Amino acid sequence: MTMASRSENAREETGDGTVDTTEPESALETARRQLYHAANDLDIDPNIVERLKYPKKVHEVTVPIERDDGTVEVFTGYRAQHDSVRGPYKGGLRYHPDVTRDECVGLGMWMTWKCAVMDLPFGGAKGGVAVNPKELSAKEKERLTRRFAQELRDNIGPNQDIPAPDMGTDPQTMAWLMDAYSMQEGETTPGVVTGKPPVVGGSEGREEAPGRSVALITQLACEYYDQPLEDATVAVQGYGSVGANAARLLDEWGATIVAISDVNGAMYEPEGIETAAVPSHDEEPEAVTTYADTVISNDELLTLDVDVLIPAALGNVITEGNAEAIAADLVIEGANGPTTSAADSILAARGVAVIPDILANAGGVTVSYFEWLQDINRRAWSLERVNDELEAEMQAAWDAVQSEFEQRDGSWRDAAYIVALSRIAEAHEARGLWP
Ligand code: GLU
Repeated sequence: MTMASRSENAREETGDGTVDTTEPESALETARRQLYHAANDLDIDPNIVERLKYPKKVHEVTVPIERDDGTVEVFTGYRAQHDSVRGPYKGGLRYHPDVTRDECVGLGMWMTWKCAVMDLPFGGAKGGVAVNPKELSAKEKERLTRRFAQELRDNIGPNQDIPAPDMGTDPQTMAWLMDAYSMQEGETTPGVVTGKPPVVGGSEGREEAPGRSVALITQLACEYYDQPLEDATVAVQGYGSVGANAARLLDEWGATIVAISDVNGAMYEPEGIETAAVPSHDEEPEAVTTYADTVISNDELLTLDVDVLIPAALGNVITEGNAEAIAADLVIEGANGPTTSAADSILAARGVAVIPDILANAGGVTVSYFEWLQDINRRAWSLERVNDELEAEMQAAWDAVQSEFEQRDGSWRDAAYIVALSRIAEAHEARGLWP
């Protein structure tokens, strides 16, 4: 199939403007629709948009492991490398039963835009294994990670593609990955992954960084809309590393956190939750509702009448089905892809401001970049320096996006895409097409 006919099909499939809402939207569909939408607004060479619709490479590997009972089970793993015009591929690895090739491609595209909106010298990638990590013992998870690292070894590296934690993976997973890679290469190579424990070259503040950026962006967005943080009510879906860190910081800065949640449901306290007293998912998994006097459902949390809603759990939670009922004035996307395209249009028509994931949760990959620099230089930064530099990077990205937002009649997502795509397109133009 030629590129031209592939492109026509892709356009038909996803439509420009019309959205088929009968099927749940995949991350790839959302990512492509967002790309067309932004590209329509931008004077960018259609040939470059054409290239950006497809990943550069997708690696699919078989990952066999021995279970603790001696049986062998085989899992499928992926690494989708989307674009590397601005630097090595960068992005997380997730362990989740819903991981598919297309999901990795869509999430990899988002990483390309995220790194560009933050002006980091990285491209975008995402990978994962289709497995339920809750059904693996620690030893099984270690064997899975080491074997996955071995299968991907030729395709990753500090100058090639640098994985990081994502859903279902954590600093320990990254330490195993780094060890497996280093043992095979015959040299300790901390820069092959980020999000490692600080004792093996990880950065201080990396784990808290996505939540910290969500909190910083919430603060900037509230300021922009003349909403004092001290008077703001906030509902946070998800109490893992993004949701808990965002909720606790906003609580510390004076906001009233009225609801938080995990997979079992949400804790609701209109007078405000003492967020430090509720263990995050990492401290005690799935404990939120056991600390609650009043429990509501995750669906009810999303439609609470609050000033700020932070979906920081899964993708596709704000859909055509509940977008009309979202009562918050401001949605800050903590998770990757929490809003479907149909919901995005409804929220835009209703005047609800949505600050996109590629800006709001980009603190994770930004501190990953700091970690990579520290690994290359073999010199660790203090937590204070990490947090100061993160704040400066978030402010600079916010300023660039705000300036686009003010110049055009579009959404915050459009503005962020325009900032990202212009940088990527410029780099593609400068490098040209090889051969
Ligand atoms: N998985 C994180 C994200 O979605 C971080 C990726 C990274 O640090 O490379 O942004």
